[in-house]
Amino acid sequence: MNPQFEARVIGAEQITASSRSIRFARPEGFSFLPGQFILLELESRGTEGKAAEITRIAKPLSFSSSPTEDLLQVTKRLTGHEFSNAFLSLKSGDVIRFSGPYGSFTFQGEHEKIAMLSGGIGITPLRSMIRYCTDRGLATDIVLFYSNRAEDDIPFSDEFEALKGKNRKLTIINTLTRPGPAWKGRTGRIDANMIRELLADYPERVFYTSGPKKMVEAMQLALQELNIPASRIRKEIFPGYD
Ligand SMILES: Cc1cc2nc3c(=O)[nH]c(=O)nc-3n(C[C@H](O)[C@H](O)[C@H](O)COP(=O)(O)OP(=O)(O)OC[C@H]3O[C@@H](n4cnc5c(N)ncnc54)[C@H](O)[C@@H]3O)c2cc1C
Repeated sequence: MNPQFEARVIGAEQITASSRSIRFARPEGFSFLPGQFILLELESRGTEGKAAEITRIAKPLSFSSSPTEDLLQVTKRLTGHEFSNAFLSLKSGDVIRFSGPYGSFTFQGEHEKIAMLSGGIGITPLRSMIRYCTDRGLATDIVLFYSNRAEDDIPFSDEFEALKGKNRKLTIINTLTRPGPAWKGRTGRIDANMIRELLADYPERVFYTSGPKKMVEAMQLALQELNIPASRIRKEIFPGYD
């Protein structure tokens, strides 16, 4: 059992209509690797029928922040359910409890060339890794394929633009499944054809894919179609969204 920590919430930010980040202070003695997650425990005051009852619910959330940043950050897709609503109501000054860090879906510059395949909220551990590589000035060549519904649904969109300016080894390919008329980028889901077309050196890369189960399974099938061996695929599945 990893140690339990307490931390004070420093800020909360709605990053798209359906996802929200909270930032909190790093407790003494806590460290993590880019891509790892915590078990965040929140208090829920109950809904109709059990008004006064307080329950504690713990769920895994990946860090969307990098160890190179002062504050810790997690980002959650809002579902309207109990834990999600407790997350939504967090505000500066609140104290949260968590344990961790957990997980082996990490990257600290071990490979020269990687590709990341993700959709929606699955970006959180990848944002942590990208920010880490950029802050540390690592030479890793990173190509992120990132699928979302519409322009407004792309989490960290402005930030990724800024990171591209700081990291010449970072390429971001956004693709939208329901683009507005002004969208000039790629459209449709990420698949083997898109990877083949836009990533000529794909046989040389190690692939990182994270997000809801269906998305990660689809990416695995695409990579199989491209004959990428399992030994070159790293994955993190977020259950509960399919
Ligand atoms: C390693 C790891 C890292 C993760 N990192 C992240 C992360 O960074 N960000 C993130 O957002 N999530 C992450 N997750 C997923 C997260 O832990 C939760 O599973 C997810 O957020 C859903 O939790 P929830 O309480 O909002 O929804 P839940 O209540 O668990 O509901 C999930 C789904 O179950 C169904 N469902 C449940 N209850 C009902 C109901 N009463 N009525 C109708 N349908 C229902 C719905 O389909 C709903 O969409 C991660 C998971 C893992 C394992």
